[in-house]
Amino acid sequence: MNDNIYDIAIIGAGASGLMLAANLDMESSRGIVLEGSSSIGSKLLMSGGGHCNITHGGPIKEFIYAYGSEGQALRRCLYRHNNLELARWLTGHGIALADENGDPVDPSYGSGGMDNAGRIFPASMRSRDVLDILREEASLNCWQLEADAKVSGLRKDGLWEITLVSGQEIRAKNVVIASGGITYPETGSDGSMLDIMEDLGIDINEPRPALAPVYVENYPYSELSGISIPDVTVIAFSSDAACTCKGKAAKMKGDLLFTHEGLSGPVILNISKYVEPGELIRLCYNKELYELPRRMQGVLRTRSRGMLGDVRTNVLASFLDHDDFIVRGVDEHGMVTAGGVSLEEIDMRTMRVKRFDGLYVIGEALDADGITGGYNLQLCWSTAAAAADDLRGAE
Ligand SMILES: Cc1cc2nc3c(=O)[nH]c(=O)nc-3n(C[C@H](O)[C@H](O)[C@H](O)COP(=O)(O)OP(=O)(O)OC[C@H]3O[C@@H](n4cnc5c(N)ncnc54)[C@H](O)[C@@H]3O)c2cc1C
Repeated sequence: MNDNIYDIAIIGAGASGLMLAANLDMESSRGIVLEGSSSIGSKLLMSGGGHCNITHGGPIKEFIYAYGSEGQALRRCLYRHNNLELARWLTGHGIALADENGDPVDPSYGSGGMDNAGRIFPASMRSRDVLDILREEASLNCWQLEADAKVSGLRKDGLWEITLVSGQEIRAKNVVIASGGITYPETGSDGSMLDIMEDLGIDINEPRPALAPVYVENYPYSELSGISIPDVTVIAFSSDAACTCKGKAAKMKGDLLFTHEGLSGPVILNISKYVEPGELIRLCYNKELYELPRRMQGVLRTRSRGMLGDVRTNVLASFLDHDDFIVRGVDEHGMVTAGGVSLEEIDMRTMRVKRFDGLYVIGEALDADGITGGYNLQLCWSTAAAAADDLRGAE
């Protein structure tokens, strides 16, 4: 076989590309992983603040809602390659697991205590251990792993022809795009492959940051930076409704965190993809004043003062019920990207692009993203494993 011809080329050595390589034995065929940046798996290393929240406990049917409107389309591959399978693969490869309190999670038997585990991590709390085992297995599976191999072009001429920024040409029978989204471009995930796929005529839904802090006009809570309020209901209103307060884009409940510059915490991260500048966002604290942290009570009293310095109790009460802000922006450093390759383009059983022979898309490059809690790395696993099934002809 010609030196630059491969059976399978994976573009991107992030979580999904490595999960595929770790699951697909290439001993009797040729496989290459092309990674554009100089370091492998940078985003995986950052995940969970370096601890890597690899998946979530509970029955897989409860995962569907975590992916919003894309959940139903993902159902099939999530069910076939679920959280238990991922957890068992990791423990089977020497990565013990734990919940967020550090209590052991053992998926080896039945659902193995995973049902109530919540967020699941490697017991070492080191994302490096997950990256190392994926790399090790990819190498045992005989994949050639190339860093500094950024792809600048892709076209089909019998085989797939891949052009690298260096000018080098590689040809492959099958190409798997595992190039991630657009956020944290310094990790290498810069959306360049989405542009290349769009040039091929593949439908790309506009990528935008998700799981990101939200900034609002006239933010009054800078001095409360670091304070977290549990069980806050947050409502994002759609743009045509900002004045009338009708037409909710999304409503979610969870912990809210005040930062120096804006709003964060799980409930804000999860709702951020539904939020646009100029729209209204409403915080409902669902609490009596005395239940809030003392410093926040002080700020709310100050905000409720009238011209004569008196606290207007009706204004104070309305802040507790609906603290409204106009959105100034969403931080571009989202933990994931909403948008990407339209799921309409994909056979969700195999992850093949329906209109192109031998082309697959997995992981965050797809227009699918989950809330916080390990759902995004689970998505990488489920889509990578589905593509592996198809590529090894196990169907
Ligand atoms: C700070 C942070 C914390 C997170 N924490 C968690 C968590 O705890 N749990 C969870 O489930 N999810 C978490 N996520 C999300 C999760 O990490 C991602 O969804 C996941 O890593 C996506 O994997 P991927 O392989 O699809 O894409 P990526 O990890 O983005 O990998 C894509 C790879 O493709 C390469 N590439 C891109 N374009 C090209 C090109 N043209 N040529 C060659 N290579 C290219 C990139 O360099 C990159 O290495 C977190 C994300 C961030 C940013």
